[in-house]
Amino acid sequence: MTHREAGARARELSGLLERYQHAYFVESKPLVSDTEYDRLFDELSAIERDYPDLALPDSPTRRVGSDITQELPEVAHTIPVLSLDKSYTTEELTAWMAKTERNAGCPLSFVCEEKIDGASMVLYYEKGILKRAVTRGNGIVGNDVTGNVKTIGTVPLRLARPVTVAVRGEVFLARSLFSTINATLEDPYANPRNLASGSLRRVKSSEVAGIPLSIFVYEGFFPKPMLTHTGILEELGALGFTVNPRVAYFTNDSTRGEIARRHPTWKTGALEEIGSFLQAERNERRALDYEIDGIVVKVDEIAVRESLGYTGHHPRWAIAFKFESPEGVTTVKAIEVQVGRTGRITPVARVEPVKISGATISNITLHNQEYIDLLELAIGDRVAVSRRGDVIPAVERVLEKNETGATTWKLPPLCPTCATALVRQGAHHFCPNADCPDQVKGRLVFFVGRGQMDIEGIGPETIEALIGSGLVHNVEDLYSFDPEKLLELPGFGEKKVAQIREGIQKSREKPFHIVLPALGIPEIGQKAAEILIAAGFTDIDSLLAVSDAGDPAPLLAIHGVGERTAATLLEELRRPAIRTRIQRLREAGVQMRESPREKADGLAQIFTGQTWCVTGSFESFSPREKAMEEVQRRGGRVTTSVSAKTTHLLAGTSAGSKLAKAHSLGVTIVSEAEFRSLLG
Ligand code: AMP
Ligand code: ZN
Repeated sequence: MTHREAGARARELSGLLERYQHAYFVESKPLVSDTEYDRLFDELSAIERDYPDLALPDSPTRRVGSDITQELPEVAHTIPVLSLDKSYTTEELTAWMAKTERNAGCPLSFVCEEKIDGASMVLYYEKGILKRAVTRGNGIVGNDVTGNVKTIGTVPLRLARPVTVAVRGEVFLARSLFSTINATLEDPYANPRNLASGSLRRVKSSEVAGIPLSIFVYEGFFPKPMLTHTGILEELGALGFTVNPRVAYFTNDSTRGEIARRHPTWKTGALEEIGSFLQAERNERRALDYEIDGIVVKVDEIAVRESLGYTGHHPRWAIAFKFESPEGVTTVKAIEVQVGRTGRITPVARVEPVKISGATISNITLHNQEYIDLLELAIGDRVAVSRRGDVIPAVERVLEKNETGATTWKLPPLCPTCATALVRQGAHHFCPNADCPDQVKGRLVFFVGRGQMDIEGIGPETIEALIGSGLVHNVEDLYSFDPEKLLELPGFGEKKVAQIREGIQKSREKPFHIVLPALGIPEIGQKAAEILIAAGFTDIDSLLAVSDAGDPAPLLAIHGVGERTAATLLEELRRPAIRTRIQRLREAGVQMRESPREKADGLAQIFTGQTWCVTGSFESFSPREKAMEEVQRRGGRVTTSVSAKTTHLLAGTSAGSKLAKAHSLGVTIVSEAEFRSLLG
């Protein structure tokens, strides 16, 4: 094929693929079979590979995204990207409509759109070509996510006409796809909104291409002024965008019939009917395949909009009607950084104390930088706070940006405790210095704690005293320091010291399946330890041998051990500090080998020393007493309620308050699938 022929064929293929993509993504009416589509797609990709100059930026092949690593640069918006005023009751809303009509000095028509709960996006087109897709950011500056947005099937790469326009829309993930897609992710998301905005912030757009995001657009900033918002929505549709078909139009003038005729899917009515519309939406909301958190009500007449104007925060011609008032509203005073025992860095928001379902909340975990970026959270912002599952407080979203100009909060580059440069792994940042004082203390507190070595008499305060006095520097020192020396410290009497001595002595009897996770090796929690032991790694030496050999294959052969766990285990067990710890603990008499357990029914007694509670319903264990029996047959205790003594909760589908309680107590939560793999 000559270059000319290739060019002609590429144009032909582009035209076809664009039509097919539009039919498939926008109209949901495929024109050709998937095989035929793939064939044409592959042919065009091949031409573009052979003749790179023919690979145009708006080529339909660009939808799959590239593997080129891109940062997320910050870019300034060229349109004002404002928030919305809020109302929570029909009365508030109708009062706002009346006030707006008074201020306008004439009767108005109102357009109602569903307020999609997704990721806010601004699409910039120049002469009809998509140039840039930018997140809302702080309204003035957002993140450039163009490569990722190009993978969204319903975002036109080229418009029907060569107009220059900025378009606002909401990117979302269909509710029906959420759990399936979430299950494929290493770090799953709490809801479709977070999954959508998280995906848009991925570095590799090829990873985003696998996630079937959608967009509804709702605002167009055209160079030539339009007369009505309805006209803007129509124009957007004509250009190739997807506008949510569920729009409503309320007016007391004669335009109503015409609107109803042009838009068969729209609801129309007189102004007084808006209340029943809101009620209907509230009822239908759960049946929609996307999440909405309210209705946006907008003045239709553009000339009136301009005369009403804007505040720094929102336009005066629109308001959001929210279905639920936030559970709590507070202000972020500061964001502090905590260093965990594995070095994991957790940002925590200090907020003005706020009461939510009975508890006063003043600290809220923000998980990691990614979570903060998703929220676009800055110090001084007003935020909505909920207690997820009624327990863990979470910042749901920013309600109002701060007025000091503070931008999205960023982690410091150095560990706040030991000043070592932080490193990023997956979604989290870590302090890589194993001697970091916070990590040392965290490891000790974890080691002696409930569910681990459970050393009576030693809690966080004693650990603090042990470290502070220089008696103990690390986990292994617990077995070599002289408890007598504690008598010299304030608050330690004979009785307490005797208790500590006894606690340490007893901990030497803890079985290996408790010792292994207590070592605090990342990824090796109780479940992983149990799986390893059940698979035959019944002593530390067999694990050390795999680490020495450097080949993860024997670990990967175990059902339930993933690549990440295997790699981490190999690497961690090679670290000199861990080797020393293991050696000294072994010398101190701590169990480094699982002693053969008494066999009942010939079953390995893998649950010895554990207390299980069972909640919800199960596929393979019905009634759920069958699951309880399996626990008991393997040496575990079963209780009917979750308490401080519970070590494991087996949670089936529609698990309720027990799950929340277990979560708050830090009890290990086991799914049915995990349970089955433990049983072998
Ligand atoms: P808020 O963030 O609560 O101030 O509400 C404003 C946000 O609502 C905008 O940034 C959009 O991301 C989102 N939104 C969703 N649907 C619409 C819509 N139809 N019209 C305007 N904003 C919308
Ligand atoms: Zn540190």
